[in-house]
Amino acid sequence: MKKFNGFFGDFGGSFIPESLQNEMNKVEKAYLELKDNPDFIAQIQYIRKTYQGRPTPLTYAKNLSSKINGAQIYLKREDLNHTGAHKINHAIGEALLAKYMGKKKIIAETGAGQHGVAMATAAAYLGLECEVHMGATDIIKQRPNVLRMKLLGAKIVSVETGQKSLKEAVDSAFEAYLKDLKNSFYCIGSVVGPHPFPMMVRDFQFVIGQEARAQILEVTGKLPEYVIAPVGGGSNAMGIFSAFLNDKEVALIGVEPLGKGNKIGEHAASINFGKKAVMQGFKSMVLQDDKGNPAPVHSIASGLDYPSVGPEHAYLNSIQRAQYVLIDDKECLEAFYLLSKTEGIIPALESAHAVAYAMKLAKTLTPEDIILVNLSGRGDKDIDFVAENYGI
Ligand SMILES: *Cc1c(COP(=O)(O)O)cnc(C)c1O
Repeated sequence: MKKFNGFFGDFGGSFIPESLQNEMNKVEKAYLELKDNPDFIAQIQYIRKTYQGRPTPLTYAKNLSSKINGAQIYLKREDLNHTGAHKINHAIGEALLAKYMGKKKIIAETGAGQHGVAMATAAAYLGLECEVHMGATDIIKQRPNVLRMKLLGAKIVSVETGQKSLKEAVDSAFEAYLKDLKNSFYCIGSVVGPHPFPMMVRDFQFVIGQEARAQILEVTGKLPEYVIAPVGGGSNAMGIFSAFLNDKEVALIGVEPLGKGNKIGEHAASINFGKKAVMQGFKSMVLQDDKGNPAPVHSIASGLDYPSVGPEHAYLNSIQRAQYVLIDDKECLEAFYLLSKTEGIIPALESAHAVAYAMKLAKTLTPEDIILVNLSGRGDKDIDFVAENYGI
């Protein structure tokens, strides 16, 4: 079989300086050795089961579904992972790979703080140092996660440039990594960045879809008509989508954040409004300002605030295997409140985007139809922010 070169159609690849390319080649080689190694597979399964809390359950959202009186909505409960979101899936995988390569230190960026918390957790558990780069704006907005990372022993680097958010944090983390390639390993927080990261992070997240597909078949006796996931960088969505890619009858729907509206700067919907371009080492759909620079982005959910998207999503969109829809801040909040009240589940604002779209779609369907939503994380981290700005 021909070796995968990192391109999903015209998207992906690796557009980076030579020194970094040499390191990426080493990472790819190590990953390809490791991924099929029985000891590694046994170790990751052991950690998932005894530490992370996998398999995560599948919950039928009975009250929400009957209130809407359309399709049946099922939730894949990634919020029940240790640390409260799907990101621990790739954090553990990347940290194991770092250890295998003999690295001492993990460098990571974080937006909502969820990837930082996941990496700090994996580093603590596996005995690695951890340095997390975070935009100054996000540090204020996500204070509980900042405190968590500190408790877990991570060093936080506050990034004061540009919009002081996720994109700048990625730039800062890359710079730190380039200065210490020998000892450190850069753990990217989504299916983005140069090859092999989009492939690796997707593979580590594949467990979501693998479990969910078996669970929904067991409970309902059939595959869902729709699988819906929120898309920031796209890791939780790729994780669940990849198990259904060959099931042509299953519609895959990624939900992008429309934020406050459709003007540049008001949203972070890279597939819907972006142009094909290279940013941060890979080719994908990128939101740009009139000068062609990465545009400022906004979403009520910090974890979705990124002006590009994983290249495999750009590809799935281009071949129309997946469809990418929009949910704005207001619709997200309505779903956040409603899921809390009807099901006793407080969703992350990121995940509430997928719930909001599922609610809209369910109204147009019948109880014969099944919608599977990836509930990527829990909303405890968002409660203070929602209370201060919108009221509880
Ligand atoms: C980070 C995050 C996301 C967005 O990241 P993806 O890579 O698109 O999955 C979604 N939901 C939660 C809870 C997150 O923490």
